[in-house]
Amino acid sequence: MFNMYDIIIVGAGPAGMTAALYALRANKNVLVLEAKVYGGQIINTPVIDNYPAAPGISGFDFANNLYKQITDLGCTIKFETVIGIEEDLSVVTNKETYKGKSIIIATGVENRKLNVENEEKLIGKGVSYCATCDGHFYKGKVVAVNGGGNTALEDALYLSNLCNDVYLIHRRDEFRGEEKYVDELKLKDNVHFILNSTIKSINGTDKLESITVIDKGNKEETINIDGLFIAIGQTPNNEIFGNLIELENGYIKSNDGVHTNKDKIYVAGDTRVKDLRQLTTAVSDGSIAATVAIKEMED
Ligand code: NAP
Repeated sequence: MFNMYDIIIVGAGPAGMTAALYALRANKNVLVLEAKVYGGQIINTPVIDNYPAAPGISGFDFANNLYKQITDLGCTIKFETVIGIEEDLSVVTNKETYKGKSIIIATGVENRKLNVENEEKLIGKGVSYCATCDGHFYKGKVVAVNGGGNTALEDALYLSNLCNDVYLIHRRDEFRGEEKYVDELKLKDNVHFILNSTIKSINGTDKLESITVIDKGNKEETINIDGLFIAIGQTPNNEIFGNLIELENGYIKSNDGVHTNKDKIYVAGDTRVKDLRQLTTAVSDGSIAATVAIKEMED
């Protein structure tokens, strides 16, 4: 016997939780399924300064506020891993199968891995993908940040206020992230730029001890560090839907930003093909997906 819901939302990031908010306010019976923790990528952002009318809110507070908002409205959230969806709108998790009148996929993206030896092994033992979550473990220590986008720049700034030294390693000599962060970092005595370089190896047996970086002229340098924060972007994680849903470079295709190729299965947030992956566009997607799903349920 299936557990039946009006709308099943896969993913409890800003897009998924906003979809839930709109559906609950329309009095729909909503199930949100989340494999890890609610909040998605935004919990990694120490300070959000580009969300209208909420300057300075932390990603953690943003996620908590939204979670409280939907659970206060009676949202059912289950922390289970979705392993597939079927033609008949059933959603299979590692624990159960649920049936929806519609499904919204809001699975977001996950941190890209460097794919060098010892990376997986030393996660939680010096290797991290979240400076806001783990930075405090490295107070007074030496860390490195890898990446050149806004996440890496923000991480380096955040860590420069906690750690003795921060090495910022980037594969080019120009940053993808905003100039204002680069300027702020250049003013910090404890931030050291290692440009045109990549991480060749992560070294350590039981815990991280050092990294070896290699520059474009093949010159290698080994740096002793206590923590490595990898911030080299994100990738979607949609292979589980590939049997049913059309993907493009791993992202879910949608002609209008809401509908997938399957009737009653919608997409919202960073996981779809789109130009701008921001908090503002994620919550916008969530509200539109829920509204369209409800309308088409009632047609
Ligand atoms: P991103 O903008 O995609 O940047 C990823 C960085 O990692 C790039 O500098 C890239 O180098 C580098 N990189 C990628 N693969 C690599 C590899 N295999 N080895 C070494 N370096 C690699 O990712 P993000 O910084 O996480 O940001 C994601 C989105 O969120 C962006 O739109 C960003 O603006 C937004 N964001 C906004 C804020 C804010 O507004 N406050 C904060 C955080 C994130 P190249 O530049 O050479 O490609």
